[in-house]
Amino acid sequence: MNIVVCVKQVPDTAEVKIDPKTNTLIRDGVPSIINPYDMHAIEAALEIKEKIGGTVTVLTMGPPQAETALRDAISLGADEAVLLSDRAFAGSDTWATAYTLAGAIKKIGFDIIICGKQAIDGDTAQVGPGIAEFLNIPHVAFVSKIKDITEQTLTLDRMMDDRYEIVEADMPVLFTVVKEINVPRLPSLKGKIKAKKIEIKKMTNAEIGLDVESLGLSGSPTQVKNIFAPDIVKDRKMLEGGVEEQVNQLMSVLKELKCV
Ligand SMILES: Cc1cc2nc3c(=O)[nH]c(=O)nc-3n(C[C@H](O)[C@H](O)[C@H](O)COP(=O)(O)OP(=O)(O)OC[C@H]3O[C@@H](n4cnc5c(N)ncnc54)[C@H](O)[C@@H]3O)c2cc1C
Repeated sequence: MNIVVCVKQVPDTAEVKIDPKTNTLIRDGVPSIINPYDMHAIEAALEIKEKIGGTVTVLTMGPPQAETALRDAISLGADEAVLLSDRAFAGSDTWATAYTLAGAIKKIGFDIIICGKQAIDGDTAQVGPGIAEFLNIPHVAFVSKIKDITEQTLTLDRMMDDRYEIVEADMPVLFTVVKEINVPRLPSLKGKIKAKKIEIKKMTNAEIGLDVESLGLSGSPTQVKNIFAPDIVKDRKMLEGGVEEQVNQLMSVLKELKCV
């Protein structure tokens, strides 16, 4: 059973600062952590392994310093770690990121792929489902519970806004997790020692052999025109009355604000 967990290294900050000139994240002086949702993905993988056996491989695409995130994942109990790093991957949007990760996962081999629901910096929640599409396998997003697992099938609770869906999925499958799924464990001493010693496998496109034109900036169909942190408006107005009354009130407010 090959379980691959995609982890992204993100800045450890609630407030993402953006360089207005380059429209990129200001990372200087901001410590990096494993994306919090990916901590839950690692925990889910370890729990599956404990139940039915297998190997947990953590995979990240990022600059050489993303190796730290992989060592942190090893200290939690992951077996192997792969760092995807190549100048050709630079400037990837979510399409190119998913394409590249999918190419690497094909090389690694997989039965189950687990991703976080979203990354706390990019926030798109597109990469997990994108990987599944490139691998032509099903995906289940927003999983809040692994209800049952056998050698071939997973039964998952999927968290929706107002209800849960119970989904049965045959492997191979990708799922993305929300924080309600588990409480991530702390690193063990044995894990920390292994994390220090382990050789992180490095992969470049030479090993994966993807179409170079589909990688990095040249393979990214998204063009970022502008990025900005929205002003937080604390002003709020509660609407009261029946639905029709509330809709009328809402329309008046929107007209006042010249939104309609
Ligand atoms: C035009 C464009 C150019 C960009 N250029 C750059 C750039 O030069 N440098 C840069 O750092 N970013 C760049 N980005 C941002 C980059 O595309 C995203 O950070 C990346 O695609 C992940 O998207 P996300 O953060 O929304 O992740 P989400 O889709 O929200 O993440 C969901 C899950 O996918 C997995 N995942 C996401 N990213 C990775 C990863 N890298 N490795 C392993 N697993 C992952 C994790 O499990 C994560 O929880 C660019 C984006 C655009 C649109």
